[in-house]
Amino acid sequence: MTVGILKESGNENRVAILPGEVAVLRKMHIVVLIERHAGDRAFATDKAYNAAGALTIERKDLITRAEMVLSVNLPVEEDIKSFREGQILCSVLNPVENSKWIEKARLRGLTILGLDLVPRTTRAQSMDILSSMATVSGYKAVLEAASRLPRFFPMFMSAAGTIKPARVLILGAGVAGLQAVAIARKLGAVVEVFDVRSAVKDEVKSLGGKFIEVEGAKEDKGAGGYAVEQTEEFKLKQQELIQEHAIEADVVIATAQIPGRRAPILLLAETVHSMKPGSVIVDLAASTGGNCELTEDGKNIKVNGVIIIGKSDYPSEMPTDASKMFGVNIINLLKLMVDKDGNLVMNLMDDIIEGTTVVRNKEYTSQRIRQMLNIK
Ligand code: NAD
Repeated sequence: MTVGILKESGNENRVAILPGEVAVLRKMHIVVLIERHAGDRAFATDKAYNAAGALTIERKDLITRAEMVLSVNLPVEEDIKSFREGQILCSVLNPVENSKWIEKARLRGLTILGLDLVPRTTRAQSMDILSSMATVSGYKAVLEAASRLPRFFPMFMSAAGTIKPARVLILGAGVAGLQAVAIARKLGAVVEVFDVRSAVKDEVKSLGGKFIEVEGAKEDKGAGGYAVEQTEEFKLKQQELIQEHAIEADVVIATAQIPGRRAPILLLAETVHSMKPGSVIVDLAASTGGNCELTEDGKNIKVNGVIIIGKSDYPSEMPTDASKMFGVNIINLLKLMVDKDGNLVMNLMDDIIEGTTVVRNKEYTSQRIRQMLNIK
């Protein structure tokens, strides 16, 4: 099989595959084409790709020659007409946001694999790009908060007196939230955590955080480990308790999301107004509406001396390791899709391949995508 790695557009600094992973693909007998300068912003030169065994070519040639095209984000719309029927595109889709793009590509006859749709099962863990990127986000969110906070994170006993440790409140203990707990604890902060899934209680505790339970949370075993929408009564109770703890906090890292829905509002405007000036809120749920009522996606705003950072693209700011993790996840997926000679074998009976494939033979193949896009 021949794979082609595209250069990303816009502000994206990552690249789907770094030279180190090209070498792995070559060992799998896969031919690798890379668009000129695709790795520049992730600090990977064309020379490094060539040395690893990739052939550097222009974008149009790449799309013409590759059996499978790999990218972090969907290519620009202009590219769709360069693709041919049966060609495979493997990228993060954000299907609801990009439904028009996907529909055009479906009509063109592309087979589309959504890296953000890899099932979140134990077997698929090594292919889970959402988890890898959330790890980066949780880490960077804490570092950004620490660098903006006008106080130390750790406790200090110095000749100039005792400095109390910073208090960090984490909303949502999924992959990003747990990473944030770990990093904030390593920096010496006191960490408190809210989540609606009781399963995370022990994980929070084992990382040194304090789990604050709100009674009456609704959980659904059928939601695949994800949170579900809560009752109005629960939401009010939770907002009140969060307010009590946010007022004492120096930093709030908000990560709570519900798949396919707007992120839950956990921090009200009035809570922000009661927080200490100089506090920092990093809202990683910004792109799905934010956990804070005042968050503006992609912006830093100041309210009552509190900085609110609405940010969902930290992985692009750490392109070397984010691209490394991204590439390793793709390779683990490709291991299910090629034989020992590097030929493509697409086994739709495999639940991972089936769950990741959203369009094939001009049809929406996955039930999940049909539900997401409201297709009968
Ligand atoms: P996510 O980004 O969807 O949500 C982040 C966190 O916010 C979750 O822990 C969720 O419970 C929490 N949340 C949602 N609504 C909330 C509310 N109203 N109040 C407080 N917290 C709220 O989650 P994620 O990081 O993508 O992962 C969610 C879960 O998926 C994991 O903890 C795990 O169970 C599962 N998972 C499985 C695998 C795997 O096995 N391959 C990989 C990753 C994640």
